[in-house]
Amino acid sequence: MALKLSKTNPQGSNTDTIQLKCRYCQARCVKAGKERNGKQRYVCTVCKKNK
Ligand SMILES: [Zn+2]
Repeated sequence: MALKLSKTNPQGSNTDTIQLKCRYCQARCVKAGKERNGKQRYVCTVCKKNK
């Protein structure tokens, strides 16, 4: 798998944290329950924006 997001990942020790960065402030996002459709929901720890 050659995805372009795996180009440079200095802290790629945990593959579960992939795509868990806030698109607004690049902060770390944490799990925040699930949506009605069952998808995992994430929220930024800094700006509190949902993803
Ligand atoms: Zn944020």
